[in-house]
Amino acid sequence: MKNFAYARAQDADTAVQLITQNQNAKFLSGGTNLVDLMRENIEQPDHLIDVTGLPLAQVEELPGGGVSIGALVRNSHLAANQIIRERYPVLSQAILMGASAQIRNMATTGGNLMQRTRCYYFYDTDARCNKREPGTGCDALEGFNRIHAILGASDDCIATHPSDMCVALAALDATVHVTGTGVERTIPIVEFHRLPEDTPQIDTNLQPDELITSVELPALPFARNSMYRKVRDRASYAFALVSVAAALEVEDGTIKNVRLALGGVAHKPWRATEAEKVLTGAKADEEIFKRAAAEELKAARGYKHNSFKIELAERTIVSVLKTLASEGGAR
Ligand code: SF4
Repeated sequence: MKNFAYARAQDADTAVQLITQNQNAKFLSGGTNLVDLMRENIEQPDHLIDVTGLPLAQVEELPGGGVSIGALVRNSHLAANQIIRERYPVLSQAILMGASAQIRNMATTGGNLMQRTRCYYFYDTDARCNKREPGTGCDALEGFNRIHAILGASDDCIATHPSDMCVALAALDATVHVTGTGVERTIPIVEFHRLPEDTPQIDTNLQPDELITSVELPALPFARNSMYRKVRDRASYAFALVSVAAALEVEDGTIKNVRLALGGVAHKPWRATEAEKVLTGAKADEEIFKRAAAEELKAARGYKHNSFKIELAERTIVSVLKTLASEGGAR
Protein backbone atom coordinates (compact mmCIF):
# COMPACT_ATOMS: atom_id res chain seq x y z
CA MET A 1 0.00 0.00 0.00
CA LYS A 2 1.22 3.48 -0.85
CA ASN A 3 1.82 5.91 2.03
CA PHE A 4 -0.85 8.56 2.52
CA ALA A 5 -1.57 11.52 4.78
CA TYR A 6 -4.53 11.29 7.16
CA ALA A 7 -6.78 14.06 8.49
CA ARG A 8 -9.95 13.87 10.53
CA ALA A 9 -12.75 16.37 9.86
CA GLN A 10 -15.27 17.36 12.54
CA ASP A 11 -17.80 19.08 10.28
CA ALA A 12 -18.88 18.96 6.64
CA ASP A 13 -17.40 22.37 5.71
CA THR A 14 -13.97 21.34 7.00
CA ALA A 15 -14.19 18.01 5.17
CA VAL A 16 -14.98 19.77 1.88
CA GLN A 17 -12.21 22.33 2.52
CA LEU A 18 -9.67 19.57 3.18
CA ILE A 19 -10.54 17.63 0.05
CA THR A 20 -10.37 20.82 -2.03
CA GLN A 21 -6.96 21.76 -0.64
CA ASN A 22 -5.36 18.37 -1.18
CA GLN A 23 -4.65 16.82 -4.56
CA ASN A 24 -5.66 13.19 -5.01
CA ALA A 25 -7.63 13.02 -1.75
CA LYS A 26 -10.52 10.73 -0.80
CA PHE A 27 -13.12 10.74 1.94
CA LEU A 28 -12.90 7.79 4.32
CA SER A 29 -15.92 6.46 6.20
CA GLY A 30 -16.33 2.73 6.94
CA GLY A 31 -13.43 1.90 4.60
CA THR A 32 -14.84 -1.52 3.76
CA ASN A 33 -14.19 -1.12 0.03
CA LEU A 34 -11.70 1.76 -0.18
CA VAL A 35 -9.14 0.20 2.16
CA ASP A 36 -9.28 -3.10 0.23
CA LEU A 37 -8.68 -1.19 -2.99
CA MET A 38 -5.76 0.66 -1.40
CA ARG A 39 -4.21 -2.59 -0.19
CA GLU A 40 -4.35 -3.87 -3.78
CA ASN A 41 -2.88 -0.58 -5.10
CA ILE A 42 -5.98 -0.02 -7.24
CA GLU A 43 -6.83 3.16 -5.35
CA GLN A 44 -3.75 5.20 -4.43
CA PRO A 45 -4.89 8.40 -2.69
CA ASP A 46 -2.26 10.75 -1.24
CA HIS A 47 -4.65 11.99 1.44
CA LEU A 48 -7.53 10.41 3.34
CA ILE A 49 -10.08 12.72 4.94
CA ASP A 50 -11.78 10.75 7.71
CA VAL A 51 -15.42 11.88 7.94
CA THR A 52 -16.60 9.42 10.58
CA GLY A 53 -16.66 12.19 13.24
CA LEU A 54 -19.31 14.20 11.37
CA PRO A 55 -22.81 14.36 12.92
CA LEU A 56 -24.47 12.44 10.08
CA ALA A 57 -25.48 9.19 11.74
CA GLN A 58 -29.23 9.74 12.32
CA VAL A 59 -32.34 8.27 10.71
CA GLU A 60 -35.04 10.97 10.98
CA GLU A 61 -38.69 11.17 10.00
CA LEU A 62 -39.46 14.14 7.75
CA PRO A 63 -42.62 16.31 8.03
CA GLY A 64 -44.16 15.10 4.75
CA GLY A 65 -43.87 11.42 5.71
CA GLY A 66 -40.47 10.72 4.18
CA VAL A 67 -37.30 9.68 5.97
CA SER A 68 -33.81 11.19 6.02
CA ILE A 69 -30.89 8.77 6.39
CA GLY A 70 -27.59 10.36 7.44
CA ALA A 71 -24.61 9.43 5.25
CA LEU A 72 -22.84 7.87 8.24
CA VAL A 73 -25.69 5.61 9.35
CA ARG A 74 -24.16 2.13 9.43
CA ASN A 75 -25.75 -0.44 7.16
CA SER A 76 -26.62 -2.70 10.10
CA HIS A 77 -28.37 0.15 11.96
CA LEU A 78 -30.34 1.14 8.89
CA ALA A 79 -31.49 -2.42 8.21
CA ALA A 80 -32.64 -2.79 11.83
CA ASN A 81 -34.40 0.58 12.05
CA GLN A 82 -38.08 0.08 12.86
CA ILE A 83 -39.33 2.80 10.49
CA ILE A 84 -37.34 1.35 7.60
CA ARG A 85 -38.47 -2.20 8.35
CA GLU A 86 -42.14 -1.21 8.46
CA ARG A 87 -42.39 1.43 5.72
CA TYR A 88 -39.61 0.37 3.34
CA PRO A 89 -38.99 -3.37 3.92
CA VAL A 90 -37.31 -3.64 0.51
CA LEU A 91 -34.46 -1.49 1.81
CA SER A 92 -33.97 -3.42 5.03
CA GLN A 93 -34.02 -6.74 3.13
CA ALA A 94 -31.57 -5.52 0.49
CA ILE A 95 -29.03 -4.40 3.09
CA LEU A 96 -29.28 -7.67 5.02
CA MET A 97 -28.60 -9.63 1.84
CA GLY A 98 -25.36 -7.72 1.25
CA ALA A 99 -21.88 -8.53 2.57
CA SER A 100 -21.45 -10.02 6.06
CA ALA A 101 -22.65 -8.87 9.50
CA GLN A 102 -19.13 -7.62 10.30
CA ILE A 103 -18.95 -5.56 7.10
CA ARG A 104 -22.49 -4.20 7.55
CA ASN A 105 -21.48 -3.03 11.05
CA MET A 106 -18.71 -0.92 9.52
CA ALA A 107 -20.17 0.11 6.15
CA THR A 108 -22.05 3.41 5.93
CA THR A 109 -24.92 4.62 3.77
CA GLY A 110 -22.70 7.11 1.91
CA GLY A 111 -19.91 4.58 1.48
CA ASN A 112 -22.32 2.00 0.09
CA LEU A 113 -23.26 4.49 -2.65
CA MET A 114 -19.58 4.97 -3.50
CA GLN A 115 -18.45 1.33 -3.62
CA ARG A 116 -16.80 0.20 -6.81
CA THR A 117 -17.38 -2.76 -9.09
CA ARG A 118 -16.26 -6.26 -8.19
CA CYS A 119 -15.21 -7.08 -11.77
CA TYR A 120 -12.32 -9.56 -11.35
CA TYR A 121 -10.20 -7.76 -13.94
CA PHE A 122 -10.58 -4.43 -12.15
CA TYR A 123 -8.90 -6.04 -9.13
CA ASP A 124 -6.18 -7.78 -11.16
CA THR A 125 -3.50 -5.20 -11.86
CA ASP A 126 -2.00 -7.45 -14.57
CA ALA A 127 -5.27 -7.31 -16.57
CA ARG A 128 -6.39 -4.65 -19.03
CA CYS A 129 -9.12 -2.50 -17.50
CA ASN A 130 -10.45 0.82 -18.77
CA LYS A 131 -11.98 1.58 -15.39
CA ARG A 132 -8.68 1.19 -13.53
CA GLU A 133 -6.45 2.54 -16.32
CA PRO A 134 -8.42 4.42 -18.97
CA GLY A 135 -7.50 3.54 -22.55
CA THR A 136 -5.90 0.15 -21.80
CA GLY A 137 -8.83 -2.04 -22.91
CA CYS A 138 -11.23 -4.40 -21.18
CA ASP A 139 -10.25 -8.02 -20.56
CA ALA A 140 -13.78 -8.86 -19.44
CA LEU A 141 -15.19 -8.47 -22.96
CA GLU A 142 -13.54 -11.66 -24.19
CA GLY A 143 -12.77 -13.10 -20.75
CA PHE A 144 -14.79 -14.78 -18.02
CA ASN A 145 -17.76 -12.41 -17.89
CA ARG A 146 -20.32 -14.41 -15.93
CA ILE A 147 -20.98 -11.64 -13.40
CA HIS A 148 -21.03 -8.81 -15.92
CA ALA A 149 -23.67 -6.47 -17.33
CA ILE A 150 -26.47 -7.27 -19.75
CA LEU A 151 -28.02 -3.78 -19.85
CA GLY A 152 -26.49 -0.36 -20.57
CA ALA A 153 -22.94 -1.65 -21.10
CA SER A 154 -20.46 -0.21 -23.60
CA ASP A 155 -17.54 -1.56 -25.63
CA ASP A 156 -15.27 0.05 -23.04
CA CYS A 157 -16.74 -1.58 -19.91
CA ILE A 158 -19.31 -4.22 -19.02
CA ALA A 159 -18.93 -4.05 -15.24
CA THR A 160 -21.88 -4.16 -12.84
CA HIS A 161 -22.58 -2.06 -9.77
CA PRO A 162 -22.22 -4.27 -6.69
CA SER A 163 -24.61 -2.65 -4.20
CA ASP A 164 -27.86 -4.23 -3.02
CA MET A 165 -28.86 -1.19 -0.98
CA CYS A 166 -28.70 1.11 -4.02
CA VAL A 167 -31.08 -1.14 -5.99
CA ALA A 168 -33.69 -0.71 -3.26
CA LEU A 169 -33.03 3.05 -3.18
CA ALA A 170 -33.58 3.18 -6.96
CA ALA A 171 -36.93 1.45 -6.59
CA LEU A 172 -37.90 3.85 -3.79
CA ASP A 173 -37.07 7.04 -5.76
CA ALA A 174 -34.51 8.14 -3.16
CA THR A 175 -32.65 11.44 -3.41
CA VAL A 176 -28.99 11.93 -2.49
CA HIS A 177 -28.11 15.17 -0.65
CA VAL A 178 -24.56 16.42 -1.17
CA THR A 179 -22.52 19.43 -0.11
CA GLY A 180 -19.58 20.94 -1.96
CA THR A 181 -17.63 24.19 -2.04
CA GLY A 182 -20.37 26.69 -1.23
CA VAL A 183 -23.03 24.55 -2.89
CA GLU A 184 -25.59 22.09 -1.60
CA ARG A 185 -27.61 20.07 -4.08
CA THR A 186 -29.74 16.98 -4.43
CA ILE A 187 -29.30 14.20 -6.99
CA PRO A 188 -32.05 11.66 -7.75
CA ILE A 189 -30.59 8.23 -7.07
CA VAL A 190 -31.20 7.10 -10.66
CA GLU A 191 -28.91 9.92 -11.81
CA PHE A 192 -26.28 9.43 -9.12
CA HIS A 193 -24.48 6.47 -10.74
CA ARG A 194 -23.42 6.53 -14.40
CA LEU A 195 -23.46 4.11 -17.29
CA PRO A 196 -19.92 3.38 -18.51
CA GLU A 197 -20.07 4.85 -22.05
CA ASP A 198 -16.47 5.80 -22.96
CA THR A 199 -15.53 6.99 -19.46
CA PRO A 200 -15.98 3.93 -17.23
CA GLN A 201 -13.41 5.30 -14.78
CA ILE A 202 -16.11 7.74 -13.57
CA ASP A 203 -18.66 5.82 -11.48
CA THR A 204 -20.92 8.66 -10.31
CA ASN A 205 -22.05 12.19 -11.09
CA LEU A 206 -20.60 13.44 -7.81
CA GLN A 207 -18.02 16.24 -8.19
CA PRO A 208 -14.56 15.63 -6.63
CA ASP A 209 -15.19 18.15 -3.82
CA GLU A 210 -18.70 16.92 -2.98
CA LEU A 211 -19.57 15.01 0.17
CA ILE A 212 -22.72 12.92 0.57
CA THR A 213 -24.57 14.15 3.65
CA SER A 214 -27.81 12.16 3.55
CA VAL A 215 -30.21 10.07 1.50
CA GLU A 216 -33.88 10.99 1.52
CA LEU A 217 -36.70 8.52 1.03
CA PRO A 218 -39.97 10.06 -0.15
CA ALA A 219 -43.26 9.22 1.52
CA LEU A 220 -44.37 6.12 -0.39
CA PRO A 221 -47.18 4.44 1.56
CA PHE A 222 -47.48 1.47 -0.80
CA ALA A 223 -43.79 0.65 -0.24
CA ARG A 224 -44.96 -1.18 2.89
CA ASN A 225 -45.68 -3.90 0.33
CA SER A 226 -42.19 -4.16 -1.08
CA MET A 227 -39.45 -6.76 -1.22
CA TYR A 228 -35.94 -7.55 -2.42
CA ARG A 229 -34.93 -10.84 -4.00
CA LYS A 230 -31.29 -11.63 -4.71
CA VAL A 231 -30.14 -14.52 -6.87
CA ARG A 232 -26.51 -15.44 -6.19
CA ASP A 233 -24.11 -18.36 -6.32
CA ARG A 234 -24.22 -19.03 -2.56
CA ALA A 235 -26.60 -18.09 0.20
CA SER A 236 -24.48 -15.41 1.86
CA TYR A 237 -21.52 -13.15 1.30
CA ALA A 238 -21.92 -13.17 -2.49
CA PHE A 239 -22.79 -10.45 -4.97
CA ALA A 240 -26.00 -10.62 -7.00
CA LEU A 241 -26.11 -12.36 -10.33
CA VAL A 242 -29.49 -10.72 -10.63
CA SER A 243 -31.58 -8.96 -8.01
CA VAL A 244 -35.01 -7.35 -8.04
CA ALA A 245 -36.34 -4.61 -5.75
CA ALA A 246 -40.05 -3.95 -6.10
CA ALA A 247 -43.02 -2.24 -4.46
CA LEU A 248 -46.55 -2.94 -5.64
CA GLU A 249 -50.06 -1.63 -5.01
CA VAL A 250 -53.04 -3.39 -6.55
CA GLU A 251 -56.61 -2.08 -6.26
CA ASP A 252 -59.60 -4.11 -7.46
CA GLY A 253 -57.26 -6.38 -9.41
CA THR A 254 -55.58 -3.47 -11.22
CA ILE A 255 -52.01 -2.28 -10.66
CA LYS A 256 -52.28 1.20 -9.20
CA ASN A 257 -48.62 1.76 -8.34
CA VAL A 258 -45.42 -0.13 -9.03
CA ARG A 259 -41.71 0.52 -8.56
CA LEU A 260 -39.17 -1.90 -9.98
CA ALA A 261 -35.36 -1.90 -10.06
CA LEU A 262 -32.76 -4.50 -10.99
CA GLY A 263 -29.31 -5.21 -9.58
CA GLY A 264 -26.39 -7.24 -10.94
CA VAL A 265 -27.29 -6.36 -14.53
CA ALA A 266 -25.77 -2.95 -15.24
CA HIS A 267 -23.09 -0.40 -14.33
CA LYS A 268 -25.70 1.29 -12.13
CA PRO A 269 -28.82 0.18 -10.27
CA TRP A 270 -31.27 -0.33 -13.13
CA ARG A 271 -34.67 1.29 -12.74
CA ALA A 272 -37.04 -0.84 -14.82
CA THR A 273 -39.10 1.97 -16.34
CA GLU A 274 -40.16 0.00 -19.41
CA ALA A 275 -41.65 -2.73 -17.23
CA GLU A 276 -43.33 -0.15 -15.01
CA LYS A 277 -45.04 1.38 -18.07
CA VAL A 278 -46.47 -1.99 -19.06
CA LEU A 279 -47.63 -2.75 -15.52
CA THR A 280 -49.21 0.53 -14.44
CA GLY A 281 -52.98 0.39 -14.86
CA ALA A 282 -52.94 -3.21 -16.08
CA LYS A 283 -54.67 -6.25 -14.59
CA ALA A 284 -52.34 -7.81 -12.03
CA ASP A 285 -51.75 -11.31 -13.37
CA GLU A 286 -48.86 -13.51 -14.40
CA GLU A 287 -49.31 -12.78 -18.07
CA ILE A 288 -48.76 -9.04 -17.63
CA PHE A 289 -45.84 -9.66 -15.25
CA LYS A 290 -44.18 -11.78 -17.97
CA ARG A 291 -44.89 -9.20 -20.66
CA ALA A 292 -43.44 -6.41 -18.50
CA ALA A 293 -40.29 -8.41 -17.73
CA ALA A 294 -39.80 -9.23 -21.41
CA GLU A 295 -40.24 -5.56 -22.35
CA GLU A 296 -37.58 -4.49 -19.85
CA LEU A 297 -35.10 -7.11 -21.02
CA LYS A 298 -35.73 -6.46 -24.73
CA ALA A 299 -32.63 -4.24 -24.85
CA ALA A 300 -30.43 -6.76 -22.98
CA ARG A 301 -27.27 -8.11 -24.55
CA GLY A 302 -25.49 -11.15 -23.19
CA TYR A 303 -21.79 -11.99 -23.50
CA LYS A 304 -20.15 -15.41 -23.67
CA HIS A 305 -20.71 -16.43 -20.06
CA ASN A 306 -23.63 -14.29 -18.85
CA SER A 307 -26.49 -14.65 -21.35
CA PHE A 308 -28.30 -16.76 -18.75
CA LYS A 309 -28.89 -13.55 -16.80
CA ILE A 310 -31.48 -12.35 -19.32
CA GLU A 311 -33.94 -15.16 -18.61
CA LEU A 312 -32.96 -15.17 -14.95
CA ALA A 313 -33.84 -11.48 -14.64
CA GLU A 314 -37.18 -12.03 -16.38
CA ARG A 315 -38.08 -14.96 -14.15
CA THR A 316 -37.04 -13.10 -10.99
CA ILE A 317 -39.15 -10.06 -11.88
CA VAL A 318 -42.20 -12.29 -12.45
CA SER A 319 -41.62 -14.21 -9.25
CA VAL A 320 -41.26 -11.05 -7.12
CA LEU A 321 -44.36 -9.42 -8.60
CA LYS A 322 -46.39 -12.59 -8.05
CA THR A 323 -45.31 -12.69 -4.43
CA LEU A 324 -46.12 -9.04 -3.83
CA ALA A 325 -49.50 -9.35 -5.56
CA SER A 326 -50.46 -12.31 -3.41
CA GLU A 327 -48.97 -11.16 -0.10
CA GLY A 328 -50.47 -7.72 0.27
CA GLY A 329 -50.51 -5.80 -2.98
CA ALA A 330 -54.17 -6.58 -3.60
CA ARG A 331 -56.97 -4.69 -1.83
FE1 SF4 B 1 -12.42 -2.99 -16.27
FE2 SF4 B 1 -14.98 -2.60 -16.75
FE3 SF4 B 1 -13.63 -4.20 -18.32
FE4 SF4 B 1 -14.11 -4.94 -15.80
S1 SF4 B 1 -15.64 -4.67 -17.37
S2 SF4 B 1 -12.18 -5.11 -16.95
S3 SF4 B 1 -14.08 -2.96 -14.77
S4 SF4 B 1 -13.28 -2.02 -18.05
